[in-house]
Amino acid sequence: MESLIAKLKQEKNLTDAEFKAILQQDFPESLLFSVADAVRREVYGDAVFIRGLIEVSNYCKNNCYYCGIRAGNCKAERYRLTEEQILDCCETGHALGFRTFVLQGGEDPYFDDALICKVVSAIREKFPDSAITLSLGEKSKDSYRRYFEAGANRYLLRHETATAEHYRLLHPDDLTWENRKRCLFDLKDIGYQVGAGFMVGSPYQTVHHLIADLRFLQELMPDMIGIGPYLTHKDTPFANHPNGSMETTLRLIAVLRLMFPYALIPSTTALGTIHPQGRELGLKAGANVVMPNLSPGDVRALYTLYENKRYSGSEAAESLELLKKQVANAGYQVVCDRGDVRRDG
Ligand code: SAH
Repeated sequence: MESLIAKLKQEKNLTDAEFKAILQQDFPESLLFSVADAVRREVYGDAVFIRGLIEVSNYCKNNCYYCGIRAGNCKAERYRLTEEQILDCCETGHALGFRTFVLQGGEDPYFDDALICKVVSAIREKFPDSAITLSLGEKSKDSYRRYFEAGANRYLLRHETATAEHYRLLHPDDLTWENRKRCLFDLKDIGYQVGAGFMVGSPYQTVHHLIADLRFLQELMPDMIGIGPYLTHKDTPFANHPNGSMETTLRLIAVLRLMFPYALIPSTTALGTIHPQGRELGLKAGANVVMPNLSPGDVRALYTLYENKRYSGSEAAESLELLKKQVANAGYQVVCDRGDVRRDG
C-alpha cells in the first residue's frame, strides 16, 4: 500500500488495477491524505485561494438528469442577475479581499455573447487586478474567444464523465461527450486557464468510469480540477438515486493532488454540504481553493443544483472572517490574491 502511494507520488501515474486498489474502501486513507498534503505544501505551501462565486442565472436550456435547475424542472423558481447586480457583487467581493470572480450559471440564452462580453469588459475595467472566471457551459469556439478577448482569464467546465456511454445516461441526446470534450480543448487552445472535473457517485458510475476520468484529465492537463459528491435533487429524474460518498471524494482529491501537483483543486460546496466538516477535510486531503458564495442574498436559495446546498456561514463570502478561522484551524491560510496556477511549482 505504501509503495503504491510512493509510486503515485513519484510517477504521477498508476496502472488501472492500481488506481482501482487505491480507490477501494479498504485502502488506508490516512497515509494517502498525508502524502497528498505534503505534495500540496511543496507547491503551494499552506495557501488556500478564495474565489467569489456569483451565480448569475438559474435559467437553463439544458436538461441534465442530475441537476436541480434543469429546464424541465418547472418547480424551480427562476432568476437572473442584471449587469449592475453582477458588478455590485464584484464590488462587495473586492472590498472583502476577493481577487477572482467566478460567474457561473445555467445555459441561459438571455446571456448572449454580447451581454457576456459587456459584463466581462466592465469587470475587467473596474477590477484590473482581478481574475475573471466564467462557468457558463458549452459555447462555440468563437464565443469562447470573444469572452477571452473581453477580459476573461479562466473557464470552468466540468467534463462530468469521460465515458461516452455514461455521459449518455446522465444527459439527454442533444448533449454529447464529444462536444463537451471539444469545448475543453477549444478553451485550452484559446489560452484560458481551464477547469474540468466530475461528480463522484453520479448515477450508474463505476470505478472504471472514475479511472477513465483520471485518464482523460491526464490528456487534458487542466489547471483546475473540481470534484464533489453527486447529491440528489427530488425534482429531477434521478430523485431516487443516492448521494455519492464523501470518503471516495476525499480519496480522489488526494489521488488528483498526487497526479497533478500543480493543480488548483477546490474543496467544493457539495463536499461542505454532505458533511459539516467536508470542506476542511477536502483541504486536508489536498484541495487548495474554496469558493464562497458572493451572489446577492435573495437569490442564493434559488440556485439549487441539489438539495440542502449550503450558502450560509462560511460558505457566504461576507463571512470571510469565519472562513479564515476554519481554514486556519485546518492548518492552512486564506490568501487574498488572484492565485494563478503554478505550473512550474
Ligand atoms: N451550466 C454550467 C454550470 C453548471 S453547475 C456548466 O454546464 O458547466 C456546476 C456543476 O455542478 C456541474 O458541472 C455539475 O458537475 C455540478 N452539479 C450539478 N448538479 C449536481 C448535483 N445534483 N449534485 C452534485 N453536483 C451537481
